[in-house]
Amino acid sequence: MVADRAPAPPVAPAPKTPRIIAVGSGKGGVGKSTLTANLAVALARMGRKVGVVDADVYGPSQPTLFDNKGAKPEGRNEKLVPVPSRHGVPVLSMGHLVEPGKALAWRGPMAGNAMAQLVDAHWGDTELLLIDLPPGTGDVQLTMLSKFKPEGAVIVSTPQDLALIDAQRAANLFETGKVPIIGLVENMSGYTCPSCGEVSDPFGKGGVEDASEGTGIPFLGRIPLAMEIRISSDAGSPSAAGDSAEAEPFRDIARKLSD
Ligand code: ADP
Repeated sequence: MVADRAPAPPVAPAPKTPRIIAVGSGKGGVGKSTLTANLAVALARMGRKVGVVDADVYGPSQPTLFDNKGAKPEGRNEKLVPVPSRHGVPVLSMGHLVEPGKALAWRGPMAGNAMAQLVDAHWGDTELLLIDLPPGTGDVQLTMLSKFKPEGAVIVSTPQDLALIDAQRAANLFETGKVPIIGLVENMSGYTCPSCGEVSDPFGKGGVEDASEGTGIPFLGRIPLAMEIRISSDAGSPSAAGDSAEAEPFRDIARKLSD
């Protein structure tokens, strides 16, 4: 007689890799990190389990935006454990791995490998990862396209032509890698003088929307140039975490991503 077999122990489900949305730009300084952090915070406020990978080797700024500078991620089973933030968004950044200012030395495959470590980490129940890419079209982007297939990319640009031409180059890279461009965002679009209310356009206006019409890539929205956005970013509490008027454009774009 064959003894009854003990039931097999339940097999722990393999951890799911979060879905990935890459945030890219052609140039540095156009607000890619600011947008990434604000979208993550807005999505978290909508109840989404979202994490941020800061792969910007040239200037990792997510530890500042999420106020967890100086944190050192732990390792478990040879993988990194993301650093929590007070906005409910776990973060892993190049800036958590190296001293500020030293990341620049990481060019080429080393930067690509570092990015891979940040993505292939213990993301737990995180369902969506936003990746803040370095500007341009270098090794980090190529590693990301070959190792992790983002479900889409958001491209941010300021309105003026020069930034737009570079943004187009970034968009081409994603298209070549068969990653759909979810849409374009125009940042630093219009400035309202806090004293007189006059609206001016230091970087022009509408260029990104025009590019969207020209290319057929959806236009996701425009973010104004606003002191509040810069101050909240520097204070480690992105605008979308609060209830200022500046939070709304970020929330609006987050809603479009969430659809
Ligand atoms: P990138 O990631 O493209 O290099 P950042 O997000 O780091 O750019 O932004 C560059 C600088 O511009 C930061 O000091 C940031 O606070 C500021 N900034 C970005 N977007 C805005 C905005 N819409 N209004 C005001 N300041 C902004």
